[in-house]
Amino acid sequence: MIDLPQTLIRLGAQAGSKADAIAQVAALLTAAGRVAPGYVEGMLAREQQANTYLGSGIAIPHGTPETRHLIRQTGIAVLQVPGGVQWGEGGETVRLVVGIAAASDEHLDLLRRLTRVLGDDALVDKLSATTDAGDVQAALTGERPANTPDTGPTLPYSAQVTLPNPLGMHARPATGLANLVRSRGGRAQLTRDSGESAGESADATRLMEVLGLGLTRGTPLTVSADSPELLAAVTDAIRAGLGDDLSAAPAGQTPARREPDWAPQAVGATVEGVAAADGLVVGVTRQHAPRPLEVRDDPGDPLQEAARLTDALAAAHAELDGVVNDVSAKFGADKAAIFRAHQELLADEGTVQDTVGRILDGHGAAWAYQAATGTRIAQLQKLDDPTLAARAADLGDVQRRVLRQLLGVHEPEVHSGGPVILLAPDLTPSDTARLGPDTLLGFVTALGGPTSHTAIIARGLGLPAVVAAGSGVLEVPDGTPAILDGAAGRLYLNPSEADVHSARQRQDVLTRGREAARAARFEPGATRDGARVEVAANINRAADAGAALEAGAEGVGLMRTEFLFLERDSVPGEEEQEAEYRAMALALEGRPLIIRTLDIGGDKEVPYLGLAREDNSFLGLRGIRLCFERPDLFLPQLRAVARAAKDYPNIHLMFPMISTLEDFRRARAIFDTVRRELDAPEVPLGVMIEVPSAALIAGALAAEVDFFSVGTNDLTQYTLAMDRLHPQLARQTDAMHPAVLQLIHLTVQAAERHGKWVGVCGGAAGDEVGALLLTGLGVRELSVSTPQVAGVKAALRGRTLPELQALAREALNQPAAEAVRALVRPVVDGEAVA
Ligand code: PEP
Ligand code: MG
Repeated sequence: MIDLPQTLIRLGAQAGSKADAIAQVAALLTAAGRVAPGYVEGMLAREQQANTYLGSGIAIPHGTPETRHLIRQTGIAVLQVPGGVQWGEGGETVRLVVGIAAASDEHLDLLRRLTRVLGDDALVDKLSATTDAGDVQAALTGERPANTPDTGPTLPYSAQVTLPNPLGMHARPATGLANLVRSRGGRAQLTRDSGESAGESADATRLMEVLGLGLTRGTPLTVSADSPELLAAVTDAIRAGLGDDLSAAPAGQTPARREPDWAPQAVGATVEGVAAADGLVVGVTRQHAPRPLEVRDDPGDPLQEAARLTDALAAAHAELDGVVNDVSAKFGADKAAIFRAHQELLADEGTVQDTVGRILDGHGAAWAYQAATGTRIAQLQKLDDPTLAARAADLGDVQRRVLRQLLGVHEPEVHSGGPVILLAPDLTPSDTARLGPDTLLGFVTALGGPTSHTAIIARGLGLPAVVAAGSGVLEVPDGTPAILDGAAGRLYLNPSEADVHSARQRQDVLTRGREAARAARFEPGATRDGARVEVAANINRAADAGAALEAGAEGVGLMRTEFLFLERDSVPGEEEQEAEYRAMALALEGRPLIIRTLDIGGDKEVPYLGLAREDNSFLGLRGIRLCFERPDLFLPQLRAVARAAKDYPNIHLMFPMISTLEDFRRARAIFDTVRRELDAPEVPLGVMIEVPSAALIAGALAAEVDFFSVGTNDLTQYTLAMDRLHPQLARQTDAMHPAVLQLIHLTVQAAERHGKWVGVCGGAAGDEVGALLLTGLGVRELSVSTPQVAGVKAALRGRTLPELQALAREALNQPAAEAVRALVRPVVDGEAVA
C-alpha cells in the first residue's frame, strides 16, 4: 500500500497554470527524495500526450515511461489548490493535483481509492478545502475497499431493524441511506438476517451492494456502524422509511385478476401477459429489438481508460439531465424522478470502483463497465421480489447509456411510419419515455413486470401496456392487425372485422365514460335513482385539500393524523397540530372533515417516540391502545382537535383500532374531559370498524357512537388473518371476501337500528366493485383517494339502489372473493357509463 506522509501534502496552494501546478507537485516529490529533479519534464511531456484530468476536479499528472528511471521510490504527492487551476482544453478546473511517481504498479491501489473519491462529490469538496492534511491521508490511503460484498458485520456497534419500505430497498431509499452515512462520516454496514443470502453484508454507502441484498419489506437486518451515534442515526432513518411513504401499497399488490371487460368473438390468436397499464387500442404490430451493442475488450493505457470512463459517465449524466427536463415537461416531475434515480445508479461508487478495478487488471473501459454492471444486473434479476428485480431493467438502461458513450454509438430512432403496437423483448424506461403517444399506441413486452418503471411510465402516458407476455410475442410479424387490451393483459391478433368494430365501440364507451365522469365530478355522489352516497377523499394535509375538491371530493372521510408525526424527528406540538386541523377544516369550506386520532404501531413506526419493538406489531399496542399508554401524545392531539372544533363545526373525531366497547368509552371519556376543560363544543364521535370484534359488537357500539367508518384494509387483514403487507398473500387479501362483507353487513344493520350512518375509508371504497357492493350493503359515505373520486361517482350513477342491494345480497352468499367480483362485473358492463 502506498504511504502518504504529510510532507508530501501541500494544502492551500495557488497555481497560475497547469504547468505551475505540475511543477509544484513535482517539487514535493523531489524534495521528499521520491524522484530525481528531471521527472517534472516527464510529467509535462505526458500531459502533451494525454490530459491527466480524472474528473471531479482531480488530476493525476505522472511521468512518461521514458522518465521512469528517474523514480527513486514509488510515491505520490498531493497539491491542494482551493482556488482551482485550469487543466485541459475543455476548461476543467482542478483543485486536487495528485502527482504520481510509480515505478511499478503499486499506484493502482491509489487509483482505486481515487475513483472512490471521484464518485463522492461531498468528499471531493471536503478534500479540496480542508485545512487538515489528515483528511487527505485518510481518503487516499488505508484499506483498499473490497469489491465484493463482505459476509457478516465487522463493525463494533450493531442493532436489528426490520425494513418497513413498501417497495423494499429500492434506489431512492438506498441513495438516502448512502447520503446519510456520507454526511455523518464513518462506516455503516447492512447485513441480511434471513433468506437464502442471510449473512451477506453491504457497505451502506454503496448503492449496488445495498440493492444486491434484495431487501424487501419486512426483511430483518442488522445495521452495524463504527460509532453508536452513526448506528442510531442509520437505524432511525431506516425505521422512518428513508423518505418513502410507508403507507403506500406494497409491491405486488395488484388488484385481483378480473375477467376482461370486453372480449372479441373471432381472433387469430390471443397472447396473454400481465396487465401493466389500462386502455384498449386497435392497430398493427411492430417488432422492436434494440440492436445489441458490440463490446470488445480493447485494453488501453489504464489511466486513459479510466479517464474515458469518467467522461462517459459525465456525458451520460448530462444526457439524463436532458431526459429529466423532457420527461418533467411532458409527464410531470414524479415520472422524471425515475431518471434522477438513473443518475444515482450512474454515480454508484461500487460499480465505478469495480469497473476501474477491471480496467487496472488490463481491460478496456467499455468491456470493464459492461462486466461490472452485468454482474449486478444478474444479481438483481435473481431476486424473487418483482420490484427489486424490475430495477435490473433500470440498471440495464443505464448500462446501455454509458456503453453508447464509450462506443460512440447513437441509439437509432425506434421506428417511423405511424403509431403502432410495439412488441419488444423488454423496453427500457428511456425507450418508453422517448417513444410517447405520437409514435406508439401501446406496447407488449416478452419480459418485465407490472411494477417496472417502464410500466409506470406507460400508465403516466396513458398508453395500454402488457408485460411478461412470453417470447411468443416476438414471433409476431410486423404489420399484423391487433387489438391490445391493457386492462385484461391481452393482445388479440388478426381480429375479425366485427371484433375491430366492437373494440372501437368499446373504446368510444371508455373514452366517453372517462370524459363524462370528469365532467360530472362536482355532482353530489348518488345512485341513478338518487340515493345519496357521499364521496369523500382520504387526505392527510391541508395542502392537498384544494386538489381533492377540484377532483370532486365532498369532504375528507379520513385524515390520517399520524402523518403529521412521520417525516420529521420530533413530536409536533399542540399549536402546530391545531393549526393543521384548522387549515384543513377551513379549506373544506364547511364540508365534513373526519380527523382520526393517532394510529401509530403496526407498520407505522415513528422512530423518535422510542416505542418498544413488538413481535406482533399488528396485534400489539397500536392505534387507540397506544394512545391510552401515551397520554403525552394523546392529550395534546385531543386538545388541538377540541380547540379547532370551537370554530369549525365540520370537524368530526374518529378513533382507530377500537376492539371493545370499553375502548370507545375510555377514549370518549378522555376527550370529554379535554373538551370541558377547554369549553369546546361536542364533536361527532366515530369509531373505525377494522377489528372483527368491533363489527361483531356493532350493536352495542352503535348505541353510543355518532358514526362508523369501516377500515377495510385492516378489517380484511384481521378477518382473514393475512398480513396486509405480505407480498405473497396480496392477491388473496381481498376485501370483497364474503367474510369481510358479512362483517360490514352486520355493522350497517346495527347502525341502522340506531339511526347512525356508516362510511368506508379503506381501499375497498375506491375500487369500483367495492364501491357498488358497499353501497348495496347500505354504506352512505365512501372515502377514497383523490384520483378515484370521479370514477366512483360515475360508477354509482350507473346503478339504482335496488339493483345494488340485490347484488349485495347475492355477494354475501358467495363462497369466495373471486365469485363476488365475477358477480358484479357483467352487470357493471351492461350499464357502462355511456
Ligand atoms: C383501514 O384499515 O382500512 C384504514 C383506512 O386505516 P389504515 O389504512 O390507516 O390502517
Ligand atoms: Mg386501519
